[in-house]
Amino acid sequence: MNKTAIVTGASNGIGRAIAKAFAAAYYNVVLADIDQENGLELQDQLLEQGYTAEFIQCDVSEPDSINSLIAESVKTYGGIDILINNAGISEFISPDEMDVETWDKIINTNLRPAFLLTRSAAASMKKRGGGSVVNIASTRAQMSEKNFEAYAASKGGLLALTHAMALSYSEHNINVNCISPGWIHTGDYEKLRDIDHQQHPSNRVGKPEDVARACLFLTDGENDFINGENLVIDGGMTRKMIYEH
Ligand code: NAP
Repeated sequence: MNKTAIVTGASNGIGRAIAKAFAAAYYNVVLADIDQENGLELQDQLLEQGYTAEFIQCDVSEPDSINSLIAESVKTYGGIDILINNAGISEFISPDEMDVETWDKIINTNLRPAFLLTRSAAASMKKRGGGSVVNIASTRAQMSEKNFEAYAASKGGLLALTHAMALSYSEHNINVNCISPGWIHTGDYEKLRDIDHQQHPSNRVGKPEDVARACLFLTDGENDFINGENLVIDGGMTRKMIYEH
């Protein structure tokens, strides 16, 4: 029996690459996103390639939408084995101009769903004898540019949520890990400049597939000794000491 993986934010960018990677590894993949057009297009593409995938429209900032996503996934595939909490939004806003609604929107899209989705998916994983969750955070959880308070706080919250939930669900063999990507280019890679690549110790900007491969690795049952961890995938940028000359 094939395992089932839910990927949020699967219609575009990093989530799209993660969903493709799980499909190619013969998981049943639930493509969860608010973007129906690109989600259905990906679903059709994967089905044409002989893989198993279903797009389910979901707004992760709405708890009812999360409940429907989990219920429909269980109904279609019989249970859930893997959850990738990837959907996220970001905005540069000065702290002096940040209103409460925008703050709540960012936190309720980036952080709260990882808690609610993990808890709901865990109910199914427990019945299957275990499972694996990956939260997609950001290197901005641990370093900053100006005017990124809400996003940084949401991603820092994901790091903490990861080890807390890893402990709470350990008795059910559910691993919870986190990935902190750096600059992952989701647009036209050819348009990047030399300086974009060269500033990275790895001499290139990241690609969505860099994160997708790590998701497969962290959710592979053979790697279950990695738990509650945060894997930084940033080409070495946060290890680079920067002094201004
Ligand atoms: P992206 O290209 O904007 O894709 C995000 C996807 O999530 C989009 O399909 C978006 O739909 C969807 N989405 C937004 N709000 C949603 C909601 N409430 N419910 C369900 N789906 C929703 O972003 P990305 O660059 O791939 O980033 C993916 C994740 O990686 C995010 O959590 C981000 O913070 C993190 N990350 C990215 C980078 C990077 O350099 N790209 C670096 C560090 C961390 P719409 O397009 O319709 O809004």
